[in-house]
Amino acid sequence: MWRKMTVIVASMLMMLVAACGGASLESTDKKNGSAIPASPEQSATVTTESYGGADNLYTIVIDPGHGGKDPGSTGASGMFEKNFTLRQSLILAELLEQDPRFQVFMTRDDDVFLSTESHFRPNFANDMSADLFISIHGNTYESSDAAGTESYYYHKESLPFAEIMHKHVTEATGFTDRGVKKQNYFLIRETTMPSVLLELGYMTNPGNETEMWSDEFQERVAKAIVAGVNEYLNTWTHNTPEEL
Ligand SMILES: [Zn+2]
Repeated sequence: MWRKMTVIVASMLMMLVAACGGASLESTDKKNGSAIPASPEQSATVTTESYGGADNLYTIVIDPGHGGKDPGSTGASGMFEKNFTLRQSLILAELLEQDPRFQVFMTRDDDVFLSTESHFRPNFANDMSADLFISIHGNTYESSDAAGTESYYYHKESLPFAEIMHKHVTEATGFTDRGVKKQNYFLIRETTMPSVLLELGYMTNPGNETEMWSDEFQERVAKAIVAGVNEYLNTWTHNTPEEL
């Protein structure tokens, strides 16, 4: 209940900011050109150990980056990030669904455009009080030399989740470990549950990209994400959620 209040309050705050002419508070950090637009400041309160502890069922939202008229980055081969993220996410969803404890939802399971203005992706997860949010991306840079895996979080409550996921995913990609970083992306800022944005590799790096499109890579990464989810959720079972 109070989570919904958080969203309402945050929405009101955003309208207020916009009314005060603060709508130009855009993030200027576009160094990776990830095409994840910033928006006026709208911060969510993150709740961990929410519903999962009670019935041992967990709602997990997978967010394949970009889609439709937003192709994301264009890989060294000319292929689009939006297709990579969808394929990787579908494999991941299928694997997660094999565990009866997990209820898996995807923000998109087709090549559709999701409005960034409406903040559909974080709202989708917030509205269903999801336990975890995982956004899948492939990175881009002006130089094809840039390569490696990096993971992003925003709220400090999401850091333990991001660190565990990054550990597993980096091992699976075998790419250079570029670390866990805090970034003001609306996707991970506005979600009210532990959230991570995974930049699995650089699509603009021919070596990374070739591997990223392979079935072996995508299956390995999906398994690593499932292992990360399990390790993270195990940290919950030792606590009694106060909210319940
Ligand atoms: Zn992306």
